[in-house]
Amino acid sequence: MTDADRNREKAAKVRIETRAWIDGAPVDAQSGMTFVTRNPATGAPLAEVAACDAADVDIAVKAARRAFDAGSWSRCDPVDRKKTMLRFAELLRDHGEELSLLECLDSGKTITDCQNEVAGEVPDFFQWYGEAIDKSFGRVAPTGQGAFSMIVQEPIGVAGLIVPWNFPLLMAAWKLAPALATGCSVVLKPAEQSPLTALRLGELAAEAGLPDGVLNILPGLGEQAGKAIGQHPDIDMVSFTGSGEVGAFLLGYAAQSNLKPVGLELGGKSPFLVLEGARISDALVEHAVMAALWNGGQNCSANMRQIIHRRHYDAFVERVLARVKDFSVGDPMDPATDIGAMITAEHRDRVAGYLQAGKDEGARVLLGGTAPDASGGYFISPTVFDQVTPDMKIAREEIFGPVLGLIAVDTDDEALQIARDTEFGLHASVFTQDIDQAFRFARALPVGTVSVNGFSEGNVATPFGGYRRSGSLSRDNGLEAMGQYQQTKTIWIELEAK
Ligand code: NAD
Repeated sequence: MTDADRNREKAAKVRIETRAWIDGAPVDAQSGMTFVTRNPATGAPLAEVAACDAADVDIAVKAARRAFDAGSWSRCDPVDRKKTMLRFAELLRDHGEELSLLECLDSGKTITDCQNEVAGEVPDFFQWYGEAIDKSFGRVAPTGQGAFSMIVQEPIGVAGLIVPWNFPLLMAAWKLAPALATGCSVVLKPAEQSPLTALRLGELAAEAGLPDGVLNILPGLGEQAGKAIGQHPDIDMVSFTGSGEVGAFLLGYAAQSNLKPVGLELGGKSPFLVLEGARISDALVEHAVMAALWNGGQNCSANMRQIIHRRHYDAFVERVLARVKDFSVGDPMDPATDIGAMITAEHRDRVAGYLQAGKDEGARVLLGGTAPDASGGYFISPTVFDQVTPDMKIAREEIFGPVLGLIAVDTDDEALQIARDTEFGLHASVFTQDIDQAFRFARALPVGTVSVNGFSEGNVATPFGGYRRSGSLSRDNGLEAMGQYQQTKTIWIELEAK
């Protein structure tokens, strides 16, 4: 029996929850309607999941508001809230294997990535924000002798969290952990393509001691459950990760309802710059390849545009191709697989459309460029294009597939100019041995995260978000993330003169 067989055997025994979680209990949608979630590696249906709509959202919001007003979470002793968060983190760790297998089945991501993210990072997020709770202080403002003034942070109330399918449980954790840490009640909507791991959170949170109504999880379609969250007049804020198109809808819903603030984490078209002063090493090549292909390129900060100084171009391309040739695409349950399945057949076709557009516009395929037919699964071969020019569709639009595009430049200034020539601003990687140049480029790139001499999105402690059309002023991760879910109150006390 292979490791993949063993994983499949274990996955077949994992319990699948298909109901929503509202006010501390699993429930079907009021309408009784369901939608089907599929295994992207086979195309086979996995489960029929409650299709929540506006009626369910309204029930969940009422439960969330009751819990918030009751104060057993929102106003409890910070040490008690911390203990519950740490217990939740421990329970998530205990269930790491089961949740990783479920994520792999539901999303087509490789089991290795699922283990790293779901069993590794997700519990760490709840632990990190749990530990921050009793170490967060308010401030005292400078005043004259006649007054004393405090600035305190209070939880905003009921938070609506809407997340995408590319890192299903991790994106939920990025938002849930800081929202719960601040004392908010939440209504979480996972993506309809990958709802199953989020649906397991309710029971674990209750077991950890989270009061009923604080966490509500509503699977459903974007235009139904998602829209209802965006439009609900008693949701105090929305934090959203997903496409720019839906981000714009959410701003509209907020304008039409209660002017709720909307935190947006959107798409990207991030550059990977190899400057004249770079040293081409195995590590650099590994970063280049992972920057474009990790998670099958279904990554908002994928560095698809690789802008390479001509001095290094031939050596870089040769080594990148040698590495990508080694990539295995296929069974996500196999620990040896590098790229699993695309999330849906529609998305695979969309990515294939970009491959065609690249060819039509004159980019040259050095590797891949096809969608292998793999017994019903949604696969795309890792693809490397060269002769990419900055005006091509594949250089301007987010592909969200395993595609690496090469752009050769004659000078570092040209590299900077091309890197900046995009409507997005999420991430950039810069490779150079020249420390002055590294700082200059880090400051000159209009993006939320710059990584130097490595491809990294940072960690739990560092804020993540986008400039330009990649996001709003809000940030996930770091202590900054808690600010999304809080409002600032000034308490001004007049003191009697003695
Ligand atoms: P999407 O916008 O289609 O869907 C995201 C979520 O929004 C899903 O839960 C969906 O059901 C919901 N939704 C859809 N229509 C809605 C509507 N009318 N009203 C309210 N909610 C609605 O995005 P996707 O295809 O799931 O995810 C891919 C996108 O997410 C890419 O653009 C990617 O770059 C972005 N992303 C960004 C980050 C980041 O941190 N910046 C991280 C991961 C993914």
